Amino acid sequence: MNLSDNITSIKGIGDKTAASFSRLGVHTVNDLIHTYPRNYLSYGDVVDIKDTIIGERHSVCAIVSSYVDVRKVRSLTLTNFTVKDSTGNIKVTFFNSPFLRNVFHKGDTYVFVGTIKVKNNMRVMEMPEYYKLSVYEGMKQEMQPVYTLTHGLSNKTIQKAISSVRETIFSMKDYLSDDILREYGLMDISEAYENIHFPMNEGVLRNAIRRLAFDEFYKFIYDMNKLKVENVKLMNSHEVVQGKAVAEFIDKLPYKLTKGQAEAIEDILKDMGSDNVMNRLVQGDVGSGKTIVAMAALFACVKQGYQGALMVPTEVLAKQHYEELTRMFSQYGISCECLVGSTSMKDKRKIYESISTGKTDIVIGTHALIEDKVEFLDLGLVVTDEQHRFGVNQRRKLSAKGNYPHTLVMSATPIPRTLAIIMYADLDISVISELPKGRKPIKNCVVGTNYRNTAYKFIAGQVSEGSQVYVICPMVDESDNLDVTNVIEYTDTLRSALPQNVVVESLHGQMKSEEKNSIMEAFIKGDIHVLVSTTVIEVGINNPNATVMMVENAERFGLAQLHQLRGRVGRGKKQSYCIFISGKESDEAKERLQVLENSNDGFFIASEDLKLRGPGDFFGIRQSGETLFKLADIYNHSDMLRMAQEILEKYGDVINITDSTTMNLKTDNSTIL
Ligand code: ADP
Ligand code: MG
Repeated sequence: MNLSDNITSIKGIGDKTAASFSRLGVHTVNDLIHTYPRNYLSYGDVVDIKDTIIGERHSVCAIVSSYVDVRKVRSLTLTNFTVKDSTGNIKVTFFNSPFLRNVFHKGDTYVFVGTIKVKNNMRVMEMPEYYKLSVYEGMKQEMQPVYTLTHGLSNKTIQKAISSVRETIFSMKDYLSDDILREYGLMDISEAYENIHFPMNEGVLRNAIRRLAFDEFYKFIYDMNKLKVENVKLMNSHEVVQGKAVAEFIDKLPYKLTKGQAEAIEDILKDMGSDNVMNRLVQGDVGSGKTIVAMAALFACVKQGYQGALMVPTEVLAKQHYEELTRMFSQYGISCECLVGSTSMKDKRKIYESISTGKTDIVIGTHALIEDKVEFLDLGLVVTDEQHRFGVNQRRKLSAKGNYPHTLVMSATPIPRTLAIIMYADLDISVISELPKGRKPIKNCVVGTNYRNTAYKFIAGQVSEGSQVYVICPMVDESDNLDVTNVIEYTDTLRSALPQNVVVESLHGQMKSEEKNSIMEAFIKGDIHVLVSTTVIEVGINNPNATVMMVENAERFGLAQLHQLRGRVGRGKKQSYCIFISGKESDEAKERLQVLENSNDGFFIASEDLKLRGPGDFFGIRQSGETLFKLADIYNHSDMLRMAQEILEKYGDVINITDSTTMNLKTDNSTIL
């Protein structure tokens, strides 16, 4: 079987299963091999129910001791029953699986494997795995890969599919020579793919992960360097000389720029007025005020008579930037349009027209900006916000819509300069290192689940004082369906826990764009007081009136990601608060979160997290939220990034990766938006 074959050529995968796989972005054998486990679980001895620890994953052998109750709650089907052993009871809950009525009967014995939670003073397992005792005995202790699932695909189906292409994995050829592999102590590529799916032991698995992370970085830097070569000393065909106009624009702002902001704007103006095209990165922590820097650049460019484009990763963010820019620029006669995937065909046509005739000066949007139909009259500047979510190719595609326009990218991912130089090889860098003055530091606390009611009271109090609140909802699992279920359920819980007049709404990744936009609009307008959501709100949203961020299951997030989340509050004058609720009672979990309490420095936080990483944690908790890479993480694998850079420098000329189909980064499809 070839890597490029469709997965339907695998025995046992029909059209229906293939359709489920396609929801995960898996179409070919190559895609399948790149569907990495998100975790590995060992199945240990069963324990007595009384010895289970809240927040930990356990296996219990128990008898179904109640009738199996199936009921509908709004759009959800809940299946509930109680199980017991000689030491205690656990309530078992399944979502949207009514067929289980025919699987479990009172008196049956099963091994249930899942995370223990507490609800209404009762131990609960949600969506546990379940096995007959004899089957369980046979699988004990093995390192079982756990894949991200979607409707219609079970872990077993994925495992089986990958087993059937093992021959293909064995025959994969490495693009690195044996000599290079030996010199750098890298695992052979086929061995790496074999072991990420079928790990021989922990040590080998770690090496496999390192090798595959290396590949992702290598491909990334390779592309980046190509771009750099293309860009080097491109003649500036959009000279912008607007220092005075920009200074006047800045003078009218209601605040004074920070030193970092002023310097970044200075760098940008210098670049755009020079002989060469600008390629610049502005790096600054969340809340450091990058938007105004982008606005100043766009302003200068439009004043000079060119058009500008601002690309952002989500529709919600696009809408928000659009409104902000329109508010600031309309007094100068600068016209803005917003172009996103959910814009109606009719409106899109109008916008295409006004961009191509030059009627629109600035267009703000998502991915929709790089569609073929978008043509500019004269694009002078391309800005990408939250750059870590875009690939080099997307940036390049947007730039190709102009005649070598200037490029400005903005990033809040805190990485040290030495790494930034590798990651953003094609860019000059400006750093904004301080936050605007007058911000009160966010007050943080890390608490256990028993603090929840106090937290609800606190939230109610803040709302009654006119402030707003974000709640990041607990995660059941990483599969989307369950996250949604959970957001909806949790919203209901909050509604009943908070006073009647508090408006609680939810936001999650599976909502239609229009729905998401209107909820965000209402939240920013103040019509919604408490917004319950998954991490979709992570990027860029700016609501200075929000003063509380409460994160459930905070222990499940990377600290750097929590730091980004926390950046959603503390954006205005009011005192802001972060409440991290830890579902794990262990000291390690608390100690990790404590780092957040003690620091506001994004990079320090990420590196501390790495130090505290537990032995069973193979991938490291993703630090940068959604990124381009499948498993490479700039914090966890910074040594691989450096190695990739070194190998490319030393041997890049003799390494041929162009005909290698083995690397597929997320950049190649559009799962990100
Ligand atoms: P980020 O860098 O995270 O994108 P934003 O650009 O969204 O940050 O800015 C966050 C908030 O800070 C906004 O409400 C913005 O108006 C405000 N702001 C930006 N610069 C300053 C400044 N120099 N002084 C005071 N407030 C500022
Ligand atoms: Mg921003």
